[in-house]
Amino acid sequence: MKNIVLFGPPGAGKGTQASILKDKYNLVHLSTGDMFRYNIKNKTELGKLAQSFTDKGQLVPDEVTIKMLNAEVDRHLPCNGFIFDGFPRTVAQAESLDSLVEEKSTEIHAMIALEVDDEVLVERLLERGKTSGRPDDANEDVIRNRIKVYYDETAILKSYYQQSDKYYGVDGVGSIEEITERICEVIDRL
Ligand code: AMP
Repeated sequence: MKNIVLFGPPGAGKGTQASILKDKYNLVHLSTGDMFRYNIKNKTELGKLAQSFTDKGQLVPDEVTIKMLNAEVDRHLPCNGFIFDGFPRTVAQAESLDSLVEEKSTEIHAMIALEVDDEVLVERLLERGKTSGRPDDANEDVIRNRIKVYYDETAILKSYYQQSDKYYGVDGVGSIEEITERICEVIDRL
């Protein structure tokens, strides 16, 4: 199995790249943001709970997020590996992911981080908001809060994965194809 965490702030291009990479490497793409949006759209109990956080650009509590992610991993096994997109976002989530993969006798092989400047992120998200239908992309205050939450709670995961030599930074500015190529160079060396 090959398990990759695709990392980076909101608007870095994780979803776009994950959907290309999953086909190229025959991996299962798991996006916690997509899972929450699916539940919100279908008005499930989980969706109602999640929406009270996603609307404000806050993180959904770890316990809820981890339980949902674990169930999705189980649902897709056996498979060739996973691309985790938008998970983990806290140290507790990273630790729980380590236990989960260990339980399955595998590991996280790399965290690949898309590096993009903040002002480019805000611009990209406002642009995406015009067509994505995502309420959290439509409001600049919510966008800036999501970026702040990233720096306050999520960015620390860079050092978490650096400790085990699994962190790979990739320039996230350029054409979609150029960025895919940069990521593939990392994956092909794993
Ligand atoms: P995303 O599509 O990854 O930008 O996620 C959209 C929103 O879903 C985030 O702003 C959070 O409110 C929530 N969310 C997604 N993934 C997580 C996670 N791993 N932990 C907590 N909240 C999450």
